[in-house]
Amino acid sequence: MHEISIAGAIIDSVLDAANKNGAKKVNEVFLEIGELTALNPGQLKFIFETITKGTVADGARYDITVIKPSINCKKCSYTGPIGFFEKLHFFLPVIKCPECGDEYVEIIAGRECCVKKIKIS
Ligand SMILES: [Zn+2]
Repeated sequence: MHEISIAGAIIDSVLDAANKNGAKKVNEVFLEIGELTALNPGQLKFIFETITKGTVADGARYDITVIKPSINCKKCSYTGPIGFFEKLHFFLPVIKCPECGDEYVEIIAGRECCVKKIKIS
């Protein structure tokens, strides 16, 4: 359940931003979550709703965009999405190039976990 600690960090930054902008209420939070983070958007929303009770973010809506993994292969220089990755270890999926099958790849998308913007009032 690494969702809980990550959700806590996300809400901290949302509340911090809301506070700095003098928000009375956080209406909506837009997030980008990379598929490789293995975070479950449904579970995240549930945790957000639970831990924001009594804060300015109580009752906020969460708009979560899941980012598909993309790689840059160092061997054959393929750049683009990967259709499949093996979750051998929960935190360390094995990623191979779909073109040449090499593992010497740079991940260019799919590990995002960030707040893009928040709507406040
Ligand atoms: Zn390749």
